[in-house]
Formats: sequence, C-alpha cells, structure tokens
Amino acid sequence: MAVIDRIQVSWYRSTFPTPITNGKYTYTVSQVVMVEITDQDGATGIGWVSGNATVYQAVLEWAPQIMGMATDTIERIYDRLYQPKLIGRKGLSTRAVSALDIALWDHLGQQTGLSVHRLLGGYRDSIPVYIAGGYYQEGKGVSQLAEEMLGYVASGAKAVKMKIGALPLSQDLLRVQAVRDAVGDEVDILVDANGAYRTDMARQMARRLADLRVFWFEEPLSAENLAGYRLLRQDGAVTIAHGENEYTRYGFRDLIAGQTVDVINADAQVLGGISEWRKVASFANAYEIPIAPHGNQEIHIHLVTAVPGGLILEYYNENVVGLMQEMLVERLPLNPDGTVSVPNAPGLGVHLDQSVLARYLVASETIRPSQA
Ligand SMILES: [Mg+2]
Repeated sequence: MAVIDRIQVSWYRSTFPTPITNGKYTYTVSQVVMVEITDQDGATGIGWVSGNATVYQAVLEWAPQIMGMATDTIERIYDRLYQPKLIGRKGLSTRAVSALDIALWDHLGQQTGLSVHRLLGGYRDSIPVYIAGGYYQEGKGVSQLAEEMLGYVASGAKAVKMKIGALPLSQDLLRVQAVRDAVGDEVDILVDANGAYRTDMARQMARRLADLRVFWFEEPLSAENLAGYRLLRQDGAVTIAHGENEYTRYGFRDLIAGQTVDVINADAQVLGGISEWRKVASFANAYEIPIAPHGNQEIHIHLVTAVPGGLILEYYNENVVGLMQEMLVERLPLNPDGTVSVPNAPGLGVHLDQSVLARYLVASETIRPSQA
C-alpha cells in the first residue's frame, strides 16, 4: 500500500511581458502554487493551481493533515481536508485543497499506468476547443483584435473567445461585430465579460449579442448575482455560461438547481480538485446542463472527455504566455480539425520544465512525516 510520505509545496511567480486586461481586471503577474506528493517508494504525483502567498501558506498548513494516509483513498483524504470550520467554505483555501487533490489523481495514474481520463471513465478521446484570447491591451485596436481571432481560426480553431465588458456597450458591440465580419458565419464566437455588468446592462447586451449569433455569453454578472443570472436565463436571448468563480459541489448545486446557467464553467483548480469536479459534472449531467471547464487545458482535457456532458474545452495557444504554459516541456497540441486529443500517458501526462520553474521560484518547502 502506498502512503503519502512527502509533500513538496512551491510557489512561482512571473511577470507578463505586457499586462492583459479583461472586462474587470488587469493581470500583471502569473503565479502558480505547485504540489508534489511522493509515496514511500518514491512514486510522485503533481498538482498545481493559480495561486498567491495565501494559497501557498494554506497548502503548507493543510498538508500535514494527510501525511501517512493511503494515496489511493482520495475521497477519504478530501474529506479530511475539507473542514469548513477550519479552512473556510469557499475561496483561496479551496484552491489549496484543489492542488493536493489534483496531485493525488496524478499519483494514482502513475501508480496504475492509466491516464486520469481513463481513471475517471474515459467517455471520449477528443473534444472540440475554443481558443481563448481577445484581451484588451495597450495599443490593441479593433483591427488587431480581428487579426488575432483570424490567426486562431487559421490554426484550426472552429471557435474563438474574446473579452468584453471594459468599454461602453456600443464600443464592445463594434468589437464583436468586427470579429464576426472577420471570421465569417461558420466560426463560433464566445464572449466573456468576467462579471463586469449590472443586470440591466447585461440584459440589453444579451439581446444585441443574439443578433451577432454568439455561442455563449460568459460571466455577464458577478458570481454572487444569482437573481440576475436567473433573469438573464429566463430572457433566453443567448446561452449563459458561468461557474469559474464557484466552489464545491454545494456552490454548483445552487447554480444549477437555481436555474441560473445554461453551460457550467467548472474549474478543478478552483472548486476543490478533480474529486469535486466530477461530482459537479454528474449533478450538471442529471439536469442536462453541459460542462465546459474553465482554465488549465492540460488538466481539464482529462476531465471534460471523461464524462458524458462535456461540451467544449477552453484552450490557450502561445499567444497568451503565462507561467502555466511556460512551465511545460510541451503544450497540449491542437489538432488541425480544431479538436484536442487526450494524452495516453499515465496520470495527467504533464512534464515540467524545471529550469523554467527555477527562474520563477519564490518559495518552496517540503513537509515530511516528522512534521505532521
Ligand atoms: Mg472567463
């Protein structure tokens, strides 16, 4: 029986060459908290999340709780970690739990020789993607935006995503119109407001976006505004997608049962790991709500293809350079038909470029049984 013998926790930070802006935030740095779990025989598993000093500290604090536990008792370990009274119900501490849980699934894959996709059920072997980009950037006008989207289409993508929400409605509509004119009618356009709108603005915008035939309208409202989401969904003008800022099966239960959402953007690195993601996927599937994970494609390719309700995968190409992409020996390749295939290697099948990571290391600590 393999047991958890050592947990290394590392925090990395790099600066974006050019800051990127969405409807609400500007990102200047890219940060990763990485967990490596090692058993007594030396087999390892890695898990990582986007995270800052708080996430790093939370992992260091929770990790000793699971030292010595059998590595293949992942639900038991999750239950030990998820103690709302101690760690909080939602938020950055849930990301810490996510990192540990993801590392355990990778470890189980390494142990069994199976990919995480196969461990979870292996529903399909590939899935269509949308290429995400279309950020606001200094000096980037409508024509540069259209060019960027055309580049994604040229690489094979049948769907592209752009940001809206930072400009007045009329100006953002011109940006979407320009992209529609550039890519034509056969390419799906997704728009993402990152929670930038009031309910009344979002309802107006949804009607206008319907004329431009968008595939979905992502996070028009803040994650807390469930009443607004219910109204938008009742309007039925466009497909409403959200969930990247929701946590745990309980949070998603309320999104889904509350009839606030058409497509779920669940993120295993945020909501509580792979164990929790699959519960969310099952619950969504029972309501016939498709799931389209948010963020990290190297992890989510395994999850979205493992379950029956998977719709589409968010995919970043080399146009958006963050630490999460830079740290990989090789990126998940895009097939010429706009799909991505699941890697067959054990676990998550991800190899890290340690020389890149070393450049961006902020702090690292290894927890051993004596500290538990
Ligand atoms: Mg988003």
